[in-house]
Amino acid sequence: MSLSSLLDPDRRWMRLALMEAERAFEAGEVPVGAVVVRGGQVVGRGHNQVERLADPTAHAEVLAISAACQTLGTKFLDGCTLYVTLEPCPMCAGALVWARLDRLVFGAFDEKAGAASTLYDIPRDPRLNHQVDTVSGVEAEASADLLRAFFRQRRRQLGTPPQGVAGDGAPGDPPPHRPIEPS
Ligand SMILES: [Zn+2]
Repeated sequence: MSLSSLLDPDRRWMRLALMEAERAFEAGEVPVGAVVVRGGQVVGRGHNQVERLADPTAHAEVLAISAACQTLGTKFLDGCTLYVTLEPCPMCAGALVWARLDRLVFGAFDEKAGAASTLYDIPRDPRLNHQVDTVSGVEAEASADLLRAFFRQRRRQLGTPPQGVAGDGAPGDPPPHRPIEPS
């Protein structure tokens, strides 16, 4: 029996999102990855490409949502779940609502920019015309480890003190409810 078949479905899909995050890491991007799943199939995937595209909106979630809409030939993603390794920022949390996703599952919390629990709760805000069920903390350790490793490496390369680095294209560190330090 393979390891993946032993995991619950949310963890299994999050592993795929983590693989996307690793692709971002290898490309020198802040390592955040996302997949959109519908009916047991991946219909869209994406990883942070802010640097490569020189585009502050090129977050993993936005790219995965666009890819899913293209796959399904629709502008709404009802029946879909988005898995992302880091808590969405306000822009991405808004995109989840506009795309009318059923569910959001995220990994690590983002104390600096999180908009799906931490600073705001946009996906579940009853004032908006759609709400997205949210599950947090799935494979959070693996996601946080990847982010920590990335910023540690970047600090070494830049020779800068451990502060003021961007998380998911947003200002500030992405410390997932505990310090990124020590390195
Ligand atoms: Zn975002």
